[in-house]
Amino acid sequence: MPVIPHNRLTFGDAECEAVAQAVRSGQWAQGLRVQELEAALAQTAGVEHAVCVASGFSALRLSLGALGIQPSDTVVIPAYCCVALANATLAWGATPVPVDIEPTGWNGGAQAFRAAIAERRPRAIIAVNTFGMPCEVDQLSSAGVPVIEDCAHAFGLQVGEKWLGSRSEVGVLSFYATKLIGGGEGGAVLTGSRAIADYVRSARDYGDQPASAYRMNDKMNDLEAALVLTQLKRLPELIWAREAIAQRYLKEFSGHGVSVIYRLPANGQPRIWYRFAVEMLTRPAVSVVAELRHAGIQADVPVYDWRPAGGPRAPIADRAYRNLVSLPLYPSLTRDEQDRVVSAFLSLCAELGKAART
Ligand SMILES: *Cc1c(COP(=O)(O)O)cnc(C)c1O
Repeated sequence: MPVIPHNRLTFGDAECEAVAQAVRSGQWAQGLRVQELEAALAQTAGVEHAVCVASGFSALRLSLGALGIQPSDTVVIPAYCCVALANATLAWGATPVPVDIEPTGWNGGAQAFRAAIAERRPRAIIAVNTFGMPCEVDQLSSAGVPVIEDCAHAFGLQVGEKWLGSRSEVGVLSFYATKLIGGGEGGAVLTGSRAIADYVRSARDYGDQPASAYRMNDKMNDLEAALVLTQLKRLPELIWAREAIAQRYLKEFSGHGVSVIYRLPANGQPRIWYRFAVEMLTRPAVSVVAELRHAGIQADVPVYDWRPAGGPRAPIADRAYRNLVSLPLYPSLTRDEQDRVVSAFLSLCAELGKAART
């Protein structure tokens, strides 16, 4: 039986045609399609300005630049997160300060963030909507330090009065191929601040500017923009397809080994189901991933532990890096494939249950 991949891209004729049209137009570099995408993103997020850049990493790095980051500064980030957050900070010679997360939703908690703010007086905080679970931006925004909301896993959702990406000074997006909206590569900065938008618009380009180590050609191109625009138009459909699969997993996995062998992801609403990350309670994630791959299911460890040894204590982040297993979840996962994921996971957990009892 064919292996079920951890990610499979969702696309159809619309995506193919959009890119073909962009190719035929003879406008391949940053052009009208990037402009059109910026308008569409600003509208989707309910923000004044959206500026497209080369990647999520570019969006993070240039957001920090717009906030005036200096080499002597610190940036508070979750201890459990994509290494891009640390790298974007290090790119300015500044210091990332990882703070521990909370086990419900695996996001940084307001309390830990506030303690780190009081102690370190950082230039900025980066909060992440991990796996699609909205982080507590409101409680951070009042602390007097600018908040960057990383929406790489969650976009197109309203939380309370506001859309994700509009809840703080800056929102950032990634359009890496396997993200919620794919464009191959690409990213965007969302903001209500004209000054921040102007900075990013200028800094992404080095043309006709004095020599600088900080202008790194962070532009998005029109071929990527054509792809992202097409995916953005079908975002509600993509979100709904993920939701339906996640709800099925939650139902299928709610008996048997739950809370003994594994713990299910938080189903607090509203959320986006970018990843379905199960916490294994009796075996480390790497061994469970190996077993599932043996059964033809490409599960994966969702986040790689980038932290240098000897850093601040973060027991819950340690637990997340060690125990979380991400199961295949994407709009093109067929009903049959879902059946296979469910049965492989449940039979592995039944074995783990037997092993735990003897
Ligand atoms: C993927 C990702 C990034 C980086 O985006 P790239 O486009 O790959 O540079 C940043 N933050 C989070 C949470 C991500 O998942």
